[in-house]
Amino acid sequence: MDCPRCATTLEAKVANPQIELRVCPACTGTLVPQSRLVPLLEMIARPLAHVVDVDEPIEAIPDKGGHCLCPTCRQVMESFGYMGTRLVIADRCGPCAQIWTDPDELGTMALLYLRTHKRTNLRNQKTQQYGVELTERVNKLMRSRAKANFVARHLLS
Ligand SMILES: [Zn+2]
Ligand SMILES: [Zn+2]
Repeated sequence: MDCPRCATTLEAKVANPQIELRVCPACTGTLVPQSRLVPLLEMIARPLAHVVDVDEPIEAIPDKGGHCLCPTCRQVMESFGYMGTRLVIADRCGPCAQIWTDPDELGTMALLYLRTHKRTNLRNQKTQQYGVELTERVNKLMRSRAKANFVARHLLS
């Protein structure tokens, strides 16, 4: 199965026992089963909840444009604005129930997820399972998006 953007062979990754992904080792694009998107974003958002300002404006990621072919069935995927925004335009294959996220999109989606759920108990959950070290490294980065992308890459590497 090849990356729809750069044709590199996708690598299987297991983010946790419930989240199986395929990640492009070249461009870091990620194929996510649709049913696993929210658990994945929650996993990325949880350690971010303590270190990003959810009210900081989120810049839109420029749409890559063009059609993205589903790595599984080779049909054109449908692009959609995540959470109804135009900040992140991801691609979805309905028949395969999969979502393709281009580089930086997962991190930004996690920020949007975090913003939407900021009144939930996400912020109150303990960060212990991710360790103090990751939180400290993230805290030294300047921008929320950089933080989000760092955590996304770290958890998927
Ligand atoms: Zn790629
Ligand atoms: Zn498909």
